[in-house]
Amino acid sequence: MTDSWVNETLYAAWGQRFRVVRELARVKSDFQDIMVFESGTHGRVMLLDGVVQITEADEFVYQEMLAHVPLLAHGAAKRVLIIGAGDGGVLRRVLQHRGVERAVMVEIDGEVIRLAKEHLPGIAGDAWTDPRAEVIVGDGIDYVKQAPAASFDVVIVDSTDPIGVGEVLFTDAFYANCARLLTGRGLVVNQCGVPFMQADELRETSVRRGRAFPDVWAYVAAVPTYVGGFMTLGWAAKDATLRAVPVEEIRRRAEAAGILGATRYWTPEIHLGAFQLPPYIADHLPRG
Ligand code: SAM
Repeated sequence: MTDSWVNETLYAAWGQRFRVVRELARVKSDFQDIMVFESGTHGRVMLLDGVVQITEADEFVYQEMLAHVPLLAHGAAKRVLIIGAGDGGVLRRVLQHRGVERAVMVEIDGEVIRLAKEHLPGIAGDAWTDPRAEVIVGDGIDYVKQAPAASFDVVIVDSTDPIGVGEVLFTDAFYANCARLLTGRGLVVNQCGVPFMQADELRETSVRRGRAFPDVWAYVAAVPTYVGGFMTLGWAAKDATLRAVPVEEIRRRAEAAGILGATRYWTPEIHLGAFQLPPYIADHLPRG
């Protein structure tokens, strides 16, 4: 297919479209339809079941916020569990942190990993071969059920939306197991959709996180290709002080971790500011 257009099918009555300069892959895996193409504007793009997952042009916004915010809020994370995230971009950002000793990534669909390695190699960079990384092809819900108690400091959930294979990653059972496998100051963050369009996702999953964790909130990132305004990243922590670490301390931690100056979206000020939510978003969160 040359010079045609692809329509994102996330919403029934509204969407974005891309010009396809060159189709690179179209695969039906055991879990989803995967398409990778060269766009006219955003570099290479990956769709899963017709929904944009990642573009080379703006992946840095999402990946930096999903990885750096929880790791720097925690301040001493050594063991990190990543669920989903088959493109490898979160793994790469997590491994940028000098203090991380082990990063386990559990992605259900080996075809996503294979196609990302083949067609989007810059997104993970050298992360796949980093000796601290362990990549497992499996279901995230099974992994969290069998993981030993207090075996990770941070959990990052970079999943598809809560329909299809991703649904289990938004359940009470999933969050209860995350609380169990996390250490005393542990926290979990997860992709939580675009609340202007997907408010139910934020509202309903925040209630579930609140049943497992004492501190539940969300923070925002403006990802150009997750259309509809801010996207929310869900936040569930055992320690409520973690989202209020002073900006100078965040800067100090980022410098020590090797992150300061190495980002294109995340800064210490954006880190703190991202937790300030407009009422149309905050109104969907449980009040403490
Ligand atoms: N950053 C993008 C976004 O938010 O749209 C990328 C998402 S990433 C590619 C989502 C990944 O989650 C997919 O590769 C999908 O296969 C994986 N996934 C969905 N359900 C899963 C499950 N139950 N266990 C592990 N991975 C899962």
